[in-house]
Amino acid sequence: MQRLVATSVNTVTFQEVDKPVLKSGEILAQTLVTGVCGSDIHAVQGHHPFVPIPYLPGHEVVGVIREIAPDVNGFKVGDRVTVEPDLPCWNCKNCNSGQENLCENLKFFGCGYSQGGMAEYWSLPATRFHKVPESFSDEAAALIEPLSTPVHAVKLSFIGSKDLTGKTVAILGCGTIGLLTLYVAKFFNAKKIVMTDLLESKRELAKRLGADSVFDAASPSLSDDVRNDFGQSVDVVFDCVAIQQTVTQAIKMADKSGTVVIVGVPTKDVSIPLPIIQDHQIRIQGSATYLPVDYQDSIKIIGQSSFKANEFVTAVFPKEQAQKAFDTAIAGGQIKVLIRFS
Ligand SMILES: [Zn+2]
Ligand SMILES: [Zn+2]
Repeated sequence: MQRLVATSVNTVTFQEVDKPVLKSGEILAQTLVTGVCGSDIHAVQGHHPFVPIPYLPGHEVVGVIREIAPDVNGFKVGDRVTVEPDLPCWNCKNCNSGQENLCENLKFFGCGYSQGGMAEYWSLPATRFHKVPESFSDEAAALIEPLSTPVHAVKLSFIGSKDLTGKTVAILGCGTIGLLTLYVAKFFNAKKIVMTDLLESKRELAKRLGADSVFDAASPSLSDDVRNDFGQSVDVVFDCVAIQQTVTQAIKMADKSGTVVIVGVPTKDVSIPLPIIQDHQIRIQGSATYLPVDYQDSIKIIGQSSFKANEFVTAVFPKEQAQKAFDTAIAGGQIKVLIRFS
């Protein structure tokens, strides 16, 4: 079979290798489509803090089950599936307390693991598989994994409430994760949502998808602009960019008593105004991947008639043009780039 390898900076190449051999407890699937994630882009550019080149990319996968180990129940050959790519040890403190996303021995399919989803076939433990509803297109199904990330992040902001009812929300960044966060915040009943981005085209898309107001992230008075729009500080700010500028903006918006959730993947350290964090009781909340229950909510959100998968999946390349898919994703301007394998 063929599998894609990120061989050097900005370069991906197909290699001919043997199909994975199924182990007990595992399922082997054949790829239909895979998404090119922001973290794939970081890694192929040599910027990912934890994934060195060469690596086997692809963790946003939709496939069809081709083989099932005899000890696996609940799935059948031919089922269309997606996977949770995090591979916990099931044996550490966090795994034992239902926080396997924070496993202390975590491995991650497609991120420095011995297999990635940008291959014709891959095998994983059956516990990582989720069936895709029949009504979903392959393209919509490829959004289940990326949408689960903001589902997890938004739930971490509830803090004693059951959802975001009555809460004001700002989302920094109108890329894939920012726009998916918009859907999640609406699903969980946020009262009012503003979004920020540097690009007018992305701000317009955010409005079209239901943001109440949008602001130019380049404005030197951005935090005041947003606070004026709400008439007060913001209850929850989701930073989907996670650079110095956006963290500073987020803290100013949340000041006082608000929560800043770091959803985007930071590539380096930032400084924060610690005296203000302390004195104004601001909460800075990290958020890492997801849990099975987040996949279930993600599937519910994509199943809503208001969810527009075609606004997110803006480019699909056949696997023969995988390099072009990466080049296109690196160039920016797209929301979600997919590679179709079969
Ligand atoms: Zn991803
Ligand atoms: Zn563990």
